[in-house]
Amino acid sequence: MEYRTQMEAARRGIITSEMKAVAEKEHIEAEKLMGLLAEGRAIIPCNRLHTAISPNGLGSMLRTKINVNLGTSRDMTDLEMEFQKVRSAVEMGAEAIMDLSSFGDTRKFRRCLTEKCPAMIGTVPIYDAVVYYNKPLAQITAAEWIDIARMHAIDGVDFMTVHCGINRETAEKFKKNKRLTNIVSRGGSIIFAWMEMTGNENPFYERFDELLDICREYDVTLSLGDACRPGCIADATDASQIGELITLGELTKRAWARDVQVMIEGPGHMPLNQIAANMEIEKTLCHGAPFYVLGPIVTDIAPGYDHITSAIGGALAAANGAAFLCYVTPAEHLRLPDVDDVKEGIIAARIAAHAADIAKGVPGAADWDRDMSLARKKLDWEKMFTLAIDPEKARRYRAESKPEREDTCSMCGNFCAVRNMNRILDGEIVSIFDE
Ligand code: SF4
Repeated sequence: MEYRTQMEAARRGIITSEMKAVAEKEHIEAEKLMGLLAEGRAIIPCNRLHTAISPNGLGSMLRTKINVNLGTSRDMTDLEMEFQKVRSAVEMGAEAIMDLSSFGDTRKFRRCLTEKCPAMIGTVPIYDAVVYYNKPLAQITAAEWIDIARMHAIDGVDFMTVHCGINRETAEKFKKNKRLTNIVSRGGSIIFAWMEMTGNENPFYERFDELLDICREYDVTLSLGDACRPGCIADATDASQIGELITLGELTKRAWARDVQVMIEGPGHMPLNQIAANMEIEKTLCHGAPFYVLGPIVTDIAPGYDHITSAIGGALAAANGAAFLCYVTPAEHLRLPDVDDVKEGIIAARIAAHAADIAKGVPGAADWDRDMSLARKKLDWEKMFTLAIDPEKARRYRAESKPEREDTCSMCGNFCAVRNMNRILDGEIVSIFDE
């Protein structure tokens, strides 16, 4: 093999089968995609050992993709049921699954995913280390943290979230600049606690070159985690968040020097008026690496509706350059999501991603809307159901409220503007009241 990673292939001018597949999905030239990959502005997370993958690309000029978090937990140990959720998420349009398993035989589930799932698979080795070693946090050694990342690479994961940016310097900045909600990233809080208890440097930062060796070997994309993502709008764009982002930008360059693909994780909770500026700051500090946003959740007051607060922020973030949205479900901040929550979260994230793609002029994005508009104009309900982002809900809603006339809906009945305009423009008489 003449290359180890997609980035290395691109830099050598080689168009891989993965690049061809992604270029076709994105309706762009493979050469153009290759150029973006060579610069690090687009990535194809695709572990050499993930044989079941149908590759996808991430980059601000490509279609915005969405990620769904799933995995076993103390309250959800049935592997088959969890795998069924994965299948449903992929059917509903998720391009990536992050396996955040935190209970039981996590390796079995992870391997099952990379053996059978066509979506990109991401993991957070920090969570898994705590489960795998099953011993007090402070007793996990620096080498053991890295060993878990290696195990995930061997198991075929396509991207790994690694909280490298919260080093001792960032941790000091965080302690000096008080926050309303401290650190809310699960991985970030674990590694911060480990550093505080051991007095050691973050092993993922200190041993970053070892991590790069692993990623290069298997072509694992580094998702540089945002331990200091704001957990409330009051903490948005503060010293800790920006300090960590500067470090992530430095690490991005080191990764690129080894042809390792990189994306950057982002906020978090953030008011609407700060989102566009944050996308610009990220692009500048991290040299155009694709941005993976967790939300942003634009107001803190809507538990039960955070799929909406995050879809608002996600749409704005993606329209301003974010490449990848992590779904948020209505259960966020409240409990583990159930099947219905997962569906609501996926649909909300897909709407946000698509709305951004229209705004960005992603090739083909607005065609879907045009087709739907034509179906609406023709009052072609079957076509509308087929094109709907959630066909089942659209069909159910109409069935639950049957109109008097089949060519209207119960919203306006005889006052149906669409029907009346079609008729009057066809030269028919429109009387409305006596029809
Ligand atoms: S009845 Fe009203 S809402 Fe329904 S299709 Fe006609 S114009 Fe649209």
